[in-house]
Amino acid sequence: MATTRKRVAAKPALAPEPARCEPCEGTGLVPKTVRVGQRHRNVGDQQGACLTCWGTGIAADET
Ligand SMILES: [Zn+2]
Repeated sequence: MATTRKRVAAKPALAPEPARCEPCEGTGLVPKTVRVGQRHRNVGDQQGACLTCWGTGIAADET
């Protein structure tokens, strides 16, 4: 009876994964509601660059 050995792959020491930007969930884009007129009628959504991560999708380190 052969014993099954679990092969544990050694993970290379990579840099830690950058934190994902929360508002855009790492996409770098956030839906923006487009409103026009004095009553701010909603005319639809459009994708806009996330201002939190500047479109990178990575939460910037606050230093
Ligand atoms: Zn973002």
